[in-house]
Amino acid sequence: MFLFMAMTKQCFCWGFYAHRQVNYYAVFLLPPGMLGLYKKEIAFLSDHAVDPDKRRYAVPEEGPRHFIDLDRYGEYPFPDLPRSWEAACAKFGEDSLQRHGIAPWWILRMMQRLTKAFESGNRPLILKYSADLGHYLSDIHVPLHACSNHNGQFTGQQGIHGFWESRIPELFAASSFDFLVGRAGYLAEVPGFVWSRVLESAAASDTVLRVERELSARISPDRKFSFEFRNGSVVRQYAAGYSDQYHRMLKGMVERRMRQSVYAVASCWYTAWVNAGQPDLNGLSGEDFTASDRAEWESLQKAWMNDRLKGRSCND
Ligand SMILES: [Zn+2]
Repeated sequence: MFLFMAMTKQCFCWGFYAHRQVNYYAVFLLPPGMLGLYKKEIAFLSDHAVDPDKRRYAVPEEGPRHFIDLDRYGEYPFPDLPRSWEAACAKFGEDSLQRHGIAPWWILRMMQRLTKAFESGNRPLILKYSADLGHYLSDIHVPLHACSNHNGQFTGQQGIHGFWESRIPELFAASSFDFLVGRAGYLAEVPGFVWSRVLESAAASDTVLRVERELSARISPDRKFSFEFRNGSVVRQYAAGYSDQYHRMLKGMVERRMRQSVYAVASCWYTAWVNAGQPDLNGLSGEDFTASDRAEWESLQKAWMNDRLKGRSCND
């Protein structure tokens, strides 16, 4: 019995592997005033980079926070879509915005929360919001998170979502991606920065789809997929050779977007800290996570595991 893990918007974003990598490497871009705490908690920031994806199995409102289907609003650069939440709500209604995704606005809300956590010196909240914010920022760097044809479902390319954001990083990141990105920068205008990254993703989504279509047309199906053992199951995957060709044809796009994610995550953490008045993070009390934090993580893990099992059996 062969199982195909179709990685769609309902499943993973950037893949768990890539999300963890981005939060991990972002720590090394931080200034000395932040580095002490963030380096000490690097395992937490990396492990919890995937909490928002798990939360989608437990919280119905979570899904739209990970994407925005910009092509629903006309042509690039989508001048008909107001960039402010209030103006966009007034024009389209909140229900409609939620349906097509709210990622950029959600990131701005998370920035506010993180800034407040720094202001109040709340160590557990600083860490939780940093991990979450890293996830949402990384998601908007994925071209198919800014496009309604997010898994190639309109063009017969189902599976391309996970191919680009999970399979390619898993195959090539450890051996060939360079995550030395320099230093975090202060973002004087966070909304403008976030929107420009989303627009870049929307602009790149055509290339992501077109290049795979072109490659698929000249490769026989038996060379496109391979079967691999994973966690005790046989899984149909994009073949390593096919993945390599796709990766080359994209001319480093996946690595570039991961590097830009690392920079964006570190810069947003840094900007929130500066805007909060650069509080002394080393002086924060060692106050730990509460029992309710741990209960929440456990329930997220359970919700995700249960859904994954259901998902797999649907694909038998
Ligand atoms: Zn996500």
